[in-house]
Amino acid sequence: MKKTVIALLLAMVLVLSLGACGGEESTEGDTVVYKVGTEPTFPPFDTTDEDQNIVGLDMDLITAIGEDQGFEVQFENLSFDGLIPALQAGNIDIVAAGMNKDDPERQEQVDFSDAYYESKLMVAVTEDNTDIQSVDDLTPDMKVAAQTGTTGASKVQELADQGKIGEAVILDGLDTCMMQLINGDVAAVINDKPVTEAYMKKQPDKIKMVGDPLNAENYGFAVAKGNEELLEKINAGLANIKEDGTFDELVDKWFNQ
Ligand code: GLN
Repeated sequence: MKKTVIALLLAMVLVLSLGACGGEESTEGDTVVYKVGTEPTFPPFDTTDEDQNIVGLDMDLITAIGEDQGFEVQFENLSFDGLIPALQAGNIDIVAAGMNKDDPERQEQVDFSDAYYESKLMVAVTEDNTDIQSVDDLTPDMKVAAQTGTTGASKVQELADQGKIGEAVILDGLDTCMMQLINGDVAAVINDKPVTEAYMKKQPDKIKMVGDPLNAENYGFAVAKGNEELLEKINAGLANIKEDGTFDELVDKWFNQ
């Protein structure tokens, strides 16, 4: 009898510890700590401070969601095209990276939270450029840059495949794309409007946006396919911080200050 009880208890411990595997989350005391992957050249969503800490609206939002739902977060710096593979490999638990959730290919690979920000792609050129006034003014002698793995990169690749531009310059880091634009190495950059605006603010009178938006997208947080438990926590926390005003305060902090 005693043996059966012990065997049962051992089996339960085994099942519980197996259940805890699968993600990379660790526990600190009783608090779950989730690893949040991002690519921090995407201000004001994902950037770094003077001490190279990863900061931004995405970081504040997921931290506030965690506070609401009783989990902590730890940030990991990855290249944008490495974020989904890292989720799939279980090396991170959450992607918070201004990631468009409306992309069908991504939806097959990961699960997305409810949308938290509406965005769009725009063509950016140097401030003194008078030739390019919209995407239609890009020509087969031009190089156009975008951040690797992004919706902007897909657009640039599409233009190259159609022969409308000479070369798709796909780079790791949006800061590098913007530097190449300012240096005249590329004729244009295709990137998310609020983020190009942040670069314009940082370096006034260097960059401008032209033409109509090239798409409409919605940012969502991503988790590994099937991780419903975490997805529910993120959605519940997101609804709560929208409800109590924290969400708007954080958007205001990163966009207006
Ligand atoms: N919103 C774009 C995408 O989802 C770019 C994101 C980024 O560069 N961090 O691909």
